[in-house]
Amino acid sequence: MNPISNRINNLPISATLSMASKARELKNKGIDIISLSLGEPDFNTPEFIKKAAIKAVNDNYNSYTPVDGYLELKKAISKKFKRDNNLIYSPSQIVVSTGAKQSIANVCMVLLNPDDEVILPAPYWVSYSAISKLAEAKPVVIPTSIKNNFKITPKDLEKAITPKTKLIIFNSPNNPSGIVYSENEYRALGEILKKYPYIYIISDEIYEHINYGNPIFSFASIKELYNRTITINGVAKAFAMTGWRIGYIGAEEWIAKACNKLQGQTTSGANCIAQRATISALNAPIQEIEYMISEFKNRRNLIIKLFSKIKGFQVNIPKGAFYIFPNISEYFGKSIKGKKINDANDFSLFLLEKAHVATVSGEAFGNKNCIRISYAASVEEIKKAAERIKKAVL
Ligand code: GLU
Repeated sequence: MNPISNRINNLPISATLSMASKARELKNKGIDIISLSLGEPDFNTPEFIKKAAIKAVNDNYNSYTPVDGYLELKKAISKKFKRDNNLIYSPSQIVVSTGAKQSIANVCMVLLNPDDEVILPAPYWVSYSAISKLAEAKPVVIPTSIKNNFKITPKDLEKAITPKTKLIIFNSPNNPSGIVYSENEYRALGEILKKYPYIYIISDEIYEHINYGNPIFSFASIKELYNRTITINGVAKAFAMTGWRIGYIGAEEWIAKACNKLQGQTTSGANCIAQRATISALNAPIQEIEYMISEFKNRRNLIIKLFSKIKGFQVNIPKGAFYIFPNISEYFGKSIKGKKINDANDFSLFLLEKAHVATVSGEAFGNKNCIRISYAASVEEIKKAAERIKKAVL
């Protein structure tokens, strides 16, 4: 008998992390893999942030922190919310966690009961559905396609709402499609949500700064939705700090308190050195990270240009994050180099085996026609990957 709990047996493995580990394994065997699977900036953490961490070590920051984060950090987050999002969250409305992923998991555990429904506009980040299920709730997916630029309409949203809907998890700039909703689009969706006061909104804004032109907008800045919105953010993507694992929420105080209670029984809070480093990241002028954003923009332009020319790749034009999500369904039912392609999983594996390029199948993101390609990689790697794929599909 399998002694592992049903909860874990039923939990899918994270597709992004498993592809990254597969690529790592092959690399360790000496195979020259180009890894475009993980959404992870390839920059170093900026020097001033590293210095703050070193100082924290030398200043003997080694004890438990408050479960919901240092007050000084929560004050910096509160200032950041005001500066970047025009949102007022006092420190008592903020909880710092071990990455935005834990922030999302906390909120789901705190709000969801068995059989509650969670609306996920697809494509969605892989962990939203897994975390919802872990909380014994039921994901309700709203499909979209490249034809409508992967965006849901107010009509789509209203059709998905039932009396059991408890939560919607919204993410813009979006992982994996890179689409960015405009303020008007947010407001139109907001008009629907205003009619259903029992629905809560997780607004995952982790990619807010990796945004090529659109002004930043937050769900919680719609006055009538502020009380029901939980704003998620973190330092991983904008500050090249993925491994430091710092995420946070801004929410109504009762939600923050419940997350604090849960965290007090699970992790006791986020790492003390990473928290000190995050204070300096958030207090710095945002211009400090502009060089990374402009480099991502160059790479986006390059990847669109190169990948649009590859046979069978229908490429969308992302306005944010660092992914493209091409539709490759033209290959389904065909054989390339003796390998039958039935779906996006087969195609992604084909690229790994025959082109030595790691991508992630769209299936885990709720779209079976696409694959996700991360361009958080060097220009050389992007060029080489395009060449290899072009050859492989010939
Ligand atoms: N969020 C990143 C990605 O989608 C990191 C991996 C993960 O946590 O899923 O690639």
